[in-house]
Amino acid sequence: MWGRRYARSVQLPVVAETNSPEETEQIGERFASLLEAGDRVLVLGDLGAGKTAFVRGVCRGLGVSGVVTSPTFTLARRYEDGRIPVSHLDLYRLPEGLVEQEPGLLEDELAPDRVALVEWPQRASEGWFSESYRVELQHLGEHSRRVTVG
Ligand code: ADP
Ligand code: MG
Repeated sequence: MWGRRYARSVQLPVVAETNSPEETEQIGERFASLLEAGDRVLVLGDLGAGKTAFVRGVCRGLGVSGVVTSPTFTLARRYEDGRIPVSHLDLYRLPEGLVEQEPGLLEDELAPDRVALVEWPQRASEGWFSESYRVELQHLGEHSRRVTVG
């Protein structure tokens, strides 16, 4: 679907149905070929929708070698050993309004030489992240999800 050579000709949005976490990771892995330094990817969906699974795939696609786990309790995790350095953010526990009050809080994670993958960007107001891509995961069934990459 998304070989790097053809990255420029990918038509977004891509909408896919997956039936396992591995399939969702694979979509993330292929999507990674599109990413460039400075990109911000907002990852939306309910708890358990597969946002972290998608991000895990993106990191693998960028060449990150270590284990990718949810940054829920740490705000952000960094992976520096891939094609582009990555910050994986999960703002779920961040009080609404804090990002606007303290813009410096996320400055390092949103640096122009990195890619930022952001779960729960809704903690900041719409438009705050000036995103490059928006990914949405929706529950269809116990093991099925709709993944929309736009
Ligand atoms: P989120 O980050 O959105 O809260 P996670 O990626 O942490 O979600 O967890 C998704 C959960 O749903 C995992 O337990 C995973 O095994 C399960 N799951 C079942 N089917 C899928 C699927 N098709 N895609 C992604 N995750 C799935
Ligand atoms: Mg998550």
